[in-house]
Amino acid sequence: HSIGVPKEVFEGECRVAATPESVIWMRKMGFSVFIEHDAGVNAKFSDEDYTKVGATIVQTAEELYKKVEIVLKVRAPMIHPLYKKHEAQMMRKSQIVISYLYPAQNPALLEELKKAGVTAIAMDKIPRISRAQKCDVLSSMAGISGYRAVIEAANYFPRYMTGQITAAGKVPPAKVLIIGAGVAGLASIGTAKGLGAIVRAFDTRTAVREQIESMGGEFLTVDIEEEGETTGGYSKTMSEEYIRREMELFKEQARDVDIIITTALIPNKPAPKLLLEDTVAGMKNGSVIVDLAAESGGNCVLTKPGETILTSNGVTIVGETDFPSKMATQSSTLYSNNLCHLLDEMGKGENFSVNQSNEIIYGSLCVAQGEIVFDPNRTVSVT
Ligand code: NAD
Repeated sequence: HSIGVPKEVFEGECRVAATPESVIWMRKMGFSVFIEHDAGVNAKFSDEDYTKVGATIVQTAEELYKKVEIVLKVRAPMIHPLYKKHEAQMMRKSQIVISYLYPAQNPALLEELKKAGVTAIAMDKIPRISRAQKCDVLSSMAGISGYRAVIEAANYFPRYMTGQITAAGKVPPAKVLIIGAGVAGLASIGTAKGLGAIVRAFDTRTAVREQIESMGGEFLTVDIEEEGETTGGYSKTMSEEYIRREMELFKEQARDVDIIITTALIPNKPAPKLLLEDTVAGMKNGSVIVDLAAESGGNCVLTKPGETILTSNGVTIVGETDFPSKMATQSSTLYSNNLCHLLDEMGKGENFSVNQSNEIIYGSLCVAQGEIVFDPNRTVSVT
């Protein structure tokens, strides 16, 4: 079977769905690999890097889509800026496309893929079960975002992160508050601790206390009995009273800490608004908020998704939504590893198939041979 990797066309997207390392892996699995000219250039992989490991460079996207059986992408198919037509229209019947799709938010895209008669698998719909962790791009990209959030915060913060005793004077460590301790939040805690900051974290799921504490963070709590974790292990919308108490805690903390990183999300819901104007107004001049929930509307009411702003009291609010793309070599490496694990689940070489009895495939399959099979209510149980 043949695999093709086009150059991403979403503006500013630097990632690529295959690295030279993953090409080696795919070839070992029995696939032949075709890469569009300059597909990896923004992730620092040259055409030569790919040809050295046995891939074939194809000059145009049109040619690539015509040639291969399986297409690996990062961003969901969209209008190609060069050809002025939808990437789905460039696909051939029965082709298999694997990329982010966000099917619940993208019914029009599913229709395009249906019209094209392809099979489409959404990397953002890989079931979040232990066995599928190796394929889970939401986790690998969240890890990168959590790391980068701290690096960005440190970049805007006008003091040291770590405490120091120097001949010129004693410097206190920065205090960092992390709101939401899922995959991204835990990565932020690890990074901020690594840089020497004092770290506090809050989450509605009490199960994360141990993880926060084992990383050297302090787990903050509110004085109200309510569990934020559903039986499936996910977070739920909390009661108004709980959110009110939580916001009081953040308002008090905001006066003391230097950096706040927010990552609070509830599956399929807009991000909860947790930092209001008066909380930001109470922060010290020079403080930084990095809102990793910006893409889902933001945890801070002042966040401008995709932008970094400075408030009148000197607080920088980072609402950038492209941290994985900013670390394109790293994110492409992890994304392509996730893809290779998925391909491996689909059977090597001649045995390759879209086997729906495999729960990982079943959970992420959105279009099967031109038929929309995506169902927002379909769940694969947590194991
Ligand atoms: P997420 O990105 O959906 O949410 C981030 C965090 O925000 C969560 O920890 C959530 O509890 C928290 N949150 C929600 N509302 C909040 C509020 N009002 N205040 C404070 N915090 C709030 O979460 P995620 O990173 O996708 O991870 C969620 C869970 O799923 C974790 O336990 C993780 O270990 C688990 N997980 C399992 C797998 C797997 O088994 N394959 C993969 C990924 C994640």
